Amino acid sequence: MIEQPYVYRHADLVEPDWRRLPGWSAVSSQDWESAQWQRAHCVKNIRQLKAVLGDGVDEAFYADLERDQAERATMSMLLPPQMLNTIVPGLSPADPGFTDALYADPVRRYMVPVFSDRKADWPSHPHASRDSLHEAEMWVVEGLTHRYPTKVLAEVLPTCPQYCGHCTRMDLVGNPTPVVDKHKFGMARDDRLSAMIGYLQANPGVRDVVVSGGDVANLPWPRLEAFVGDLLAVESVRDIRLATKALMGLPQYWLTDEVRAGMERLARTARERDVSIAIHTHVNAAQSVTPLVARASKAMLDTGIRDVRNQGVLLRGVNDSADALLDLCFALLDDAKIMPYYFYMCDMIPNAEHWRLGLGEAQQLQHQIMGYLPGFATPRMLCDVPYVGKRWVHQAARYDTERGISYWTKNYRTAVEADDEQALEREYEYYDPIYLLPETGQQWWRAQIAAEQPSRAAAAEPVPA
Ligand code: SF4
Repeated sequence: MIEQPYVYRHADLVEPDWRRLPGWSAVSSQDWESAQWQRAHCVKNIRQLKAVLGDGVDEAFYADLERDQAERATMSMLLPPQMLNTIVPGLSPADPGFTDALYADPVRRYMVPVFSDRKADWPSHPHASRDSLHEAEMWVVEGLTHRYPTKVLAEVLPTCPQYCGHCTRMDLVGNPTPVVDKHKFGMARDDRLSAMIGYLQANPGVRDVVVSGGDVANLPWPRLEAFVGDLLAVESVRDIRLATKALMGLPQYWLTDEVRAGMERLARTARERDVSIAIHTHVNAAQSVTPLVARASKAMLDTGIRDVRNQGVLLRGVNDSADALLDLCFALLDDAKIMPYYFYMCDMIPNAEHWRLGLGEAQQLQHQIMGYLPGFATPRMLCDVPYVGKRWVHQAARYDTERGISYWTKNYRTAVEADDEQALEREYEYYDPIYLLPETGQQWWRAQIAAEQPSRAAAAEPVPA
């Protein structure tokens, strides 16, 4: 009998042994499970990474990393021990082949990018931009993006417990890097959050609030609880989603007594008011789903919130195969009770071409994963089209595969198109990575760039700071 393309086998979750890493060989389980210890021992630079990994990694890797940080990285390094421990989970740095395994590791590829990962010829798409989704243009209050008729995104803070190399909000989130300065909020945090609540009170057409950042795990719990409490008191709000990659990167935080008790209070109030609170996390690779992550997810569900869902990002070398995606979805669903929900195509930020997939590849992945998971847990592949919003990857109106341009339409107006009569007829463009195109398509792009901006003809210049 011929085997199916994907064969399901339940795999038990595994917490990799952090004691295999020289810098953490003496760390106790008690320390490891402490959120405070995790935060205090985050790896923020190459020196600290070397101290954890010891002498087993080739110096060439660190040189590659250093060059990336100097010339390409749009996010600074920030790795909680929990996340770093899931990189090359089966080897210790003293084992032969560790450096090669480090280069090949899916979590390393997006959390610790190195220069040789990036495309030399087309590191950035000519249409890449810092705020690639134009969220700041749609701020109705600083940090409150009103991009859909009934939904808003509240960026409550610009930091996270971990920084992902491909972060869509690289314009705002994290520390400056040598090649990218960061936007700074002008208003004081409490003034911004109060103004957000004021906007929602004045706009009863909004029923759904994504509370994000950054990562809500970096907002002191009492402040987050007060803000969500204020949202619960807004008559029109019916869905609240708390965005936190830290449920995976720092599950110890979501397991603290303070957070569990606070979520219980919020969940109780939400139930009384018929409001759904859900946690939305961001897991890209199956090896990130460990027993601690499962404990944190189930602890949150035990508080009485509606759901814990995953919004991953499709990234080349990380999860760009049906096997990798299905392994991840089953790890999330089986033992961590995290609902696979979306996989976004990586947005068109600078220096991201090596991570981005073409639309056709995302369509193929959607096709390949159908039928294995329950329908309610089959994630949708999404393209977040600038000025349009999230669209299923098969919703493109047209697709020019030679030039890698897909065309999309929209069915509602946002504030920036309030007076635009053509908004619902116009086609909006999204672009595949140019290096994936046939030679004729690549030539077309070179000619466009040469005509528009001769100095950028090589498309290889660093991002302006
Ligand atoms: S956790 Fe989210 S907001 Fe923070 S760096 Fe990663 S992708 Fe960006």
